Amino acid sequence: MAVKFVQPRAPQGTASTKPLGEFCNFIGGELRASKSGEHLDTVDPATGKTYARIPDSGAPDVAEAVAAAKKAFGSWSECSPRDRGSYLLKIAALIEENLEALALAESQDNGKPLSLARQVDIPRAAENFRFFAQHALSFFEEGYIDSAKGVASRIEREPLGVVACISPWNLPLYLFTWKIAPALAAGNTVVGKPSEVTPATAALLGELCIEAGLPPGVLNIIQGLGSTVGAALCEHADVSAISFTGGTATGSRVRATAERLGKRATLELGGKNPSILFEDADYDIALTTAVRSAFSNQGQICLCGSRLFVQRSIYERFKTDFIARVSKLVVGDPLEAATQQGALVSETHLQKVLSYIELSKAEGGNILCGGARLSPSGRCEDGFFVAPTVIEGLSTSCRTSQEEIFGPVVTLQPFDSEEEVIAAANATQYGLAANIWTRDVEKAHRVAHALESGIVWINCWMLRDLRTPFGGVKNSGVGREGGDEALRFFTKAPKTISWPQA
Ligand code: NAD
Repeated sequence: MAVKFVQPRAPQGTASTKPLGEFCNFIGGELRASKSGEHLDTVDPATGKTYARIPDSGAPDVAEAVAAAKKAFGSWSECSPRDRGSYLLKIAALIEENLEALALAESQDNGKPLSLARQVDIPRAAENFRFFAQHALSFFEEGYIDSAKGVASRIEREPLGVVACISPWNLPLYLFTWKIAPALAAGNTVVGKPSEVTPATAALLGELCIEAGLPPGVLNIIQGLGSTVGAALCEHADVSAISFTGGTATGSRVRATAERLGKRATLELGGKNPSILFEDADYDIALTTAVRSAFSNQGQICLCGSRLFVQRSIYERFKTDFIARVSKLVVGDPLEAATQQGALVSETHLQKVLSYIELSKAEGGNILCGGARLSPSGRCEDGFFVAPTVIEGLSTSCRTSQEEIFGPVVTLQPFDSEEEVIAAANATQYGLAANIWTRDVEKAHRVAHALESGIVWINCWMLRDLRTPFGGVKNSGVGREGGDEALRFFTKAPKTISWPQA
C-alpha cells in the first residue's frame, strides 16, 4: 500500500491560498519541528520560487536525535543481521511502492528531470537498502576451516554505536541511503543529515520508516544547515563515526574535527574527472556516452566526465558530432517527459557555474556551444537553467581545467600520445573517477592502472556493482564506501575466535 505522505503540509498560522509545505525532523520515531521553532526556505529550482520550509535545527535538536539513537542502539545492535535486514527490505519495498511520489519530490526539490529521478535516483535508493540487507548476512558470517592445521575460526564483528551520515544535494535520496543502509545493516543507529538545499526525500524517508515499523531512534533525520547541524553532529561526543559526502573544503573541516576528536571518518569529495577517447574507440558508443557522462543531472554528479580528452586524429570529427548532440539536448521543465536537462540546484550554484563560464573566456577558452543562462517560457521562466556548455582552447593548468565546476560545462582538449593524456588527466588535485574509450584491451588496462583515480570505467560509465569499493584518491576522498568496505567502516576492528577442528 502506498504511504500517504504527511508532508508537505501547511505550517500553522499561514493563511495563504497556496500554503508552503513543511518538512519535519525525524527523531525517536516521530516527526518534529526544530526546538527553536525557526525555519529555512526550500526553493524549487525549476521555478525559482520557495515551495516549502524545513526546521532550522541546531545543536539541541542534534542532541535529542543522538540521545534517541543512543537509546535505540542496545536492542538494534542485538538484533540478528537477518532481523535488521528484514526492516531494510520493508523500507526498500515502501520506496518502490512510493516511487512516483518520491521521484516527484526529488525533481521538485533538486531541479533534475522527473524521468531521471524515476529511473535512477529512487530505484537506486531502494536498491541500497535491498543490497545491504542481503550483503550484511555474508559479512557477519565470515569463518574459515584450515583442515591441514586443524583449526576453525569465526570472525566476530560489532557495530560502532551512533554514527553520523551527512550527504549532499546532487543525488539526495540515492546518496543519503547509500550511507544509512550499510550503517543500519551493520547494527549501528544513525543520525542522518541531508543537504539543506534538498531536504524533501530525506523527510519522506522518515515517514516510510514509521510505516515500515522501524524501531524508534534507529534512524533519526535532522534538517538544517551544515554549519549548525552538520558541525554539531560531528562534534557530538556520542557520535563515533562520520560518513560524509560533499565538497572538498567541507570535507577538510569534517576531517579536522574527526581527527581532533579521534573519530572514524570516511569522506567522499569533489572531482574533475577525465574522459579519454582514443582513436580506436567504438566511436558511436563513446560519443553517446560522452554526452551522457558530461551532462547527466546537469553535470551535477561527482562522477561526471568534465574534462574530455580526444585523440587528435579524431578530434575535429568528434568535436563536430559532440556539439551537434549537445546542442540538441532538451533543456526545460523537469516535469516534462521530453526534458533531458533540468535546472541547476540553486541560484547560488547557478551563479557559480556562470562565473566559471566567464572565467573560461578570460582564460582564453572558446565557447563552442551553450555558455549562458536559459529562461524557458511558462512556469520555469525564473528557474536556474544553463545551456549545456562545451569549451575548447584551454590549458590543462588554468583554473577552469583545474577546479570543480559541478555543472553542465565540459572542456574539450586534443592529445597525441598515451603518455601525454595520462599526464594531463592526472594533473589535478582530484582523483575520483575516469573513463577510457578504446578497443585495445591492453592499452585500456595500462592506462587504467596509470590514472590516479579511485574508479576507472573502460568503455562504459556509471556501471556499478555495489559490492565493489567506491571512493577517490588525492583530494577526492578518504576511505571507501560500497560492499564490505562500507560494512567494515561501520564496524569495530574484528575479533577472531578459533578452536581446534578434529
Ligand atoms: P557541501 O560540502 O556544501 O555539503 C555537503 C553536506 O555537508 C551537506 O549536508 C551540508 O549541510 C553539510 N555540511 C556543510 N558544512 C558542514 C560542516 N561544517 N560540518 C558538517 N557538515 C557540513 O557539498 P554540496 O554542495 O552539498 O555537494 C556538492 C559536492 O559534493 C561536490 O563537490 C561533489 O563533487 C561532492 N560529491 C561527492 C561525491 C562522491 O562520492 N565523491 C558524491 C556526490 C557529491
